[in-house]
Amino acid sequence: MRKVIAQEEMEATDPIYAQDEELLKPWINAHRLKKIKGTWYKDGRRVVTGRMEHKQTFIQAHHDAPVYRHPGINKMRQLVSRRYWWPNMQQDVNDYVRGCAECQRNKINTQPTKAPLSPIFPIREAMPFETVALDFITKLPISQGYDSILTVTDHDCTKAAVFIPCKESMTAEDTAGLIIQHIFP
Ligand SMILES: [Zn+2]
Repeated sequence: MRKVIAQEEMEATDPIYAQDEELLKPWINAHRLKKIKGTWYKDGRRVVTGRMEHKQTFIQAHHDAPVYRHPGINKMRQLVSRRYWWPNMQQDVNDYVRGCAECQRNKINTQPTKAPLSPIFPIREAMPFETVALDFITKLPISQGYDSILTVTDHDCTKAAVFIPCKESMTAEDTAGLIIQHIFP
């Protein structure tokens, strides 16, 4: 059996989300922190006091996971600050992204290899789901172990869409597996 734990349980036990009262004391007035049910928040975002290595693990989880594909600094700030806060979060995010080897490698190429935005013309007499469009809806509250939805839309024939519960941490192979399982049974 796979074990599914609640976000709150994970935050309570994982050192990445630790809250050290001594460390955050000087921030309370300076940053207008509020304590709700024993947990400190800044504007609804959980305060994190963990060590640098934990913060880096946290930032990394929002940067290197397959579904994120190395977002830039602005996108990263949005992602990381949605639920969590610490005083130098923005700087830490900047430093992490600037230090990412993968991002640096991609930067050398001044013409990023993006596919041109040309319309995809439907194939005549296409079979249902012969051409599909994939999209991920991520950052959802965890439900039955899933935090994301994969949408598969039939582009050419019916425009029908299939919604498959999945996880943000999935690889391309996992995604292909889901499509085979749900679309081409
Ligand atoms: Zn990167």
